Amino acid sequence: MQLVFATNNLNKLKEVQRLIPDNIKLLSLEDIGCLEDVPETQSTIEGNAIQKAEYIKTKYGYDCFADDTGLEVDALNGEPGVYSARYAGEQRNSEDNIQKLLHELEDHTNRQAQFKTVIALELNGSQHTFTGICKGEITKSKSGNEGFGYDPVFKAEGYDKTFAEISLEEKNRIGHRGKAVNQLVNFLNSIG
Ligand code: IMP
Repeated sequence: MQLVFATNNLNKLKEVQRLIPDNIKLLSLEDIGCLEDVPETQSTIEGNAIQKAEYIKTKYGYDCFADDTGLEVDALNGEPGVYSARYAGEQRNSEDNIQKLLHELEDHTNRQAQFKTVIALELNGSQHTFTGICKGEITKSKSGNEGFGYDPVFKAEGYDKTFAEISLEEKNRIGHRGKAVNQLVNFLNSIG
């Protein structure tokens, strides 16, 4: 089986590739000649994942899946959520986003947060979604060089290291995207 993973984020591609079995050949957007930005203009994480998957299926004709991820912080009423990528502005810069988040949380003792990933799959004319959640907390400062995005300031529940201080294997085992991808893989296996 051949499936397009609708992302231009090489970090995501690397994470997901490790979890997809060899009998599924993953194609990137570049592989199918999609060089434009895929629209993500919806107001929910799930809506954006579905929008990206539908865009590729409709415009390029490939069965595909897309993920959308957001960081939901309790003390900020679930923000930045669907706006995680452009939290500090349209430049979509991770360092700026982290600095804004740490600043917003300066006066809060409740630092609980969760990452949420929704994967939307377009396969054989049907649509399916899979959700992965990882609960944790926002640290007071950055630690670690692994991962991407908000990883240097997110510690999963029960861990004393941030996502940027653990290996990719470990992040995939406990993380939001790993959980969603595992559901996707179980589903693909169940339909043979
Ligand atoms: P999107 O899913 O590409 O729209 O990502 C939304 C925002 O969340 C971006 O700023 C990403 O850098 C960030 N993000 C997505 N996945 C992760 C992750 O696994 N760890 C940390 N940040 C992430």
